[in-house]
Amino acid sequence: MSTQDPPSPPLNWFAARIADAFRKHYQTPATVVAAAPGRVNIIGEHVDYNGGWVLPAAIERWIVAAAAPREDGVVALHDDRTGETANFLVTELGRTPQRSWSNYVRGVLAGFTALGLQLPGFSLTISSTIPLGGGLSSSAALEAVVARILGQLFGWETTPLQLAKLCQRAEHDYAGVPCGLMDQAAVLMSREAHLLLLDCATEAVSFVPFSNPDWQILIINSGVAHELADGEYAKRRAACHQAASTLGVKSLRELDSSCLPGIGRILNEEMNRCVRHVLTENERTIQAVAAFGRNDLLEVGRLLNASHASLRDDYRVSCAELDFIAATTQQIEGVAGCRMTGGGFGGSAVALVQSAVIKSVSNTVTSDFAARYGRSPEIFVTRPAAGAIAWSILQEEIL
Ligand code: ADP
Ligand code: MG
Repeated sequence: MSTQDPPSPPLNWFAARIADAFRKHYQTPATVVAAAPGRVNIIGEHVDYNGGWVLPAAIERWIVAAAAPREDGVVALHDDRTGETANFLVTELGRTPQRSWSNYVRGVLAGFTALGLQLPGFSLTISSTIPLGGGLSSSAALEAVVARILGQLFGWETTPLQLAKLCQRAEHDYAGVPCGLMDQAAVLMSREAHLLLLDCATEAVSFVPFSNPDWQILIINSGVAHELADGEYAKRRAACHQAASTLGVKSLRELDSSCLPGIGRILNEEMNRCVRHVLTENERTIQAVAAFGRNDLLEVGRLLNASHASLRDDYRVSCAELDFIAATTQQIEGVAGCRMTGGGFGGSAVALVQSAVIKSVSNTVTSDFAARYGRSPEIFVTRPAAGAIAWSILQEEIL
């Protein structure tokens, strides 16, 4: 029996294709299918691990997976896009030293073990339309698709928040990225036609409607692959933590920008810049939620532009390509605003664009970028999508 209804096109078509790829690879039918979207953060960047507010949405790009249980205690993995495979015993859940996506699977399995669940073996095939390392959280989508499909396969009952935390732990321990909860919450808990407002201090989730047909979310992938595990992300996180402890607060969330003039002399330059970004970004996010509520997308755009400047100048997590995309896109008629999105050091930018000019804006950004860098950026429009889902394949679909 299916616990969730299968989704509508194009996702159900993609899922049927992955079930077919599974059958061809393993010579046996899959019994469950799952899909997890990537995410774009509209605003609230690098504040999740500071207890702040974030406003992401799931995007219409997915990792899909098909799976079936096995009797031999083996976990068999297959990436249909690259043909890559990996096999390990379900009892061998240590992190492999190789750069392998099996680490994300091992991390999620280790999370289920920690919940006291008995792990049987299974076979899994995946495929994806989310760019890898593009700042759109393919890593959280991979964790989420595995978590959802295993829940469906073995009938494990968990809440979305529990799964998000389990996936976050996998990212910390198996990918080496000390991320906050935003990515995993967004890919697991998002709702169609809504932005997800997550209060990272209380973990309270609420939804901000975004279905205004006059405006579109445009994503521009710089094609610069970021390497969050390489240390800069962890350094920023450490500077914020150190600043909070110097200022005697549990997290920077407890402060607001009115204290900035007073704390300037207490912190060193590095901490000052980080704190200035975090406090002003928290305020921009709250203001953006209010502006969405008033349908004032021009004000949201202004906040996006200010967020980019703060990430570029104070937090220093942008790069030349993202600065170029933000600066050129912000100038175009019909664009409310544009900023880098995600952890930074590469990856993607997000823009709010009037629907009437979306094609010409995409063309202008593409040609300006190509003239500067000699290659085209990947560029696409998305509506806010639903979070990860899994469903069983009915017997008659298999036969
Ligand atoms: P982002 O989450 O922004 O895409 P990360 O560096 O956090 O960037 O995650 C990218 C990593 O996630 C890849 O290097 C790969 O190990 C893993 N990954 C994500 N999606 C897939 C996939 N479809 N197939 C294989 N590995 C994947
Ligand atoms: Mg990631």
